[in-house]
Amino acid sequence: MPQTAEHLNLFTESVIRQMTRVANEHGAINLSQGFPDFAPPAALVEAAERAIRGDHHQYAVTWGAPRFRQALARKHSHFTGMEIDPDAHITVTCGSTEAMMTALMTVCDPGDKVIVFSPFYENYGPDTILSGAEPIFVPLRPPEFRFDADELRAAFKQGVKALVLCNPSNPTGRVFSREELQTIADLAQEYDAFVITDEVYEHIVYAPNQHTYMASLPGMFGRTVSCNSLSKTYAITGWRIGYVIASPEVTAGVRKVHDFLTVGAPAPLQEAAVTALEFSDDYYEELRAAYTRRRDLFLGYLEKANLKFTRPEGAYYVLVDIADFDFESDTAFCTWLAKEIKVAAVPGSSFFREPVKHLVRFHFAKSESTLSAAGERLLRLAD
Ligand code: GLN
Repeated sequence: MPQTAEHLNLFTESVIRQMTRVANEHGAINLSQGFPDFAPPAALVEAAERAIRGDHHQYAVTWGAPRFRQALARKHSHFTGMEIDPDAHITVTCGSTEAMMTALMTVCDPGDKVIVFSPFYENYGPDTILSGAEPIFVPLRPPEFRFDADELRAAFKQGVKALVLCNPSNPTGRVFSREELQTIADLAQEYDAFVITDEVYEHIVYAPNQHTYMASLPGMFGRTVSCNSLSKTYAITGWRIGYVIASPEVTAGVRKVHDFLTVGAPAPLQEAAVTALEFSDDYYEELRAAYTRRRDLFLGYLEKANLKFTRPEGAYYVLVDIADFDFESDTAFCTWLAKEIKVAAVPGSSFFREPVKHLVRFHFAKSESTLSAAGERLLRLAD
């Protein structure tokens, strides 16, 4: 029989999704795959009901329903201070997962080098391989998770086509400062590379940290490909609505790739999502306040359980140090944790290029009652 492609041997199945299956198998509280267990805003659910009864059952415009793109442009212009044109700059995708894959396939030819910070959201590994690119990893060393500017320059010197930046960062919880972003921007300009950003946690940022949009830095709009989605901001990870914002030239390429990959994102859900994009600033303030409460509640339990961790500045993940526990690996620890403590986490090694095996990732995008229940169970680790 013919053999499947060799590039399949270059990556494994998603450990994040695998841990969800382990959690279900053991009846554990799932703090591995990051998705909420609370409802999206009621107005959004009502809009979806109206949309599905309306006349939105056929393909939307390939690059996104016009009403949706217009609302997206208004919202994004409001938060970034840039003038986003719905017709020239936006392509709607099936989640930010497709946005990232499309972005890489748009800017990279086979063999092009792409800088990826390690640890990284695990999709970026397979994404670079499937797009034919070669990842160059630059470490963000625990527990601070900052990059070394000289190390980054050395990577750029190898002749890279793009750098992938997740900010706010999954899994580290870092919110890169304007100065850090400027360092990356300066190098991208000096070495003529693209910056592909994953900004799905843009609104989940804890005071006093603030999100800076890479594309808004001087001279960066033309070379930044911004990937984003509605999943995290409106608690609708299953709707699969994402988007890419880029210059008109790059957008032309993004639309070509996107068209042949998926044709388009779900038409009725794009229609419904206009409602979310029109929420006032209060919505985003409440979102931030609710996530700050969830973070503080969960971190309080980690402290009580005498666990060491890096305090997240943004996003909804925390990396916990398990070096003091007597396990042969982070995977063995996570399997034991799901089975015996009934809480599921992701082994940190699935995010690192380097052999880091003393960290595990929990997410806290859960209701306060779920987080309290998980926290009480984790207190047993203090014994
Ligand atoms: N972004 C989430 C995580 O890192 C969920 C990823 C996914 O399964 N699509 O856990």
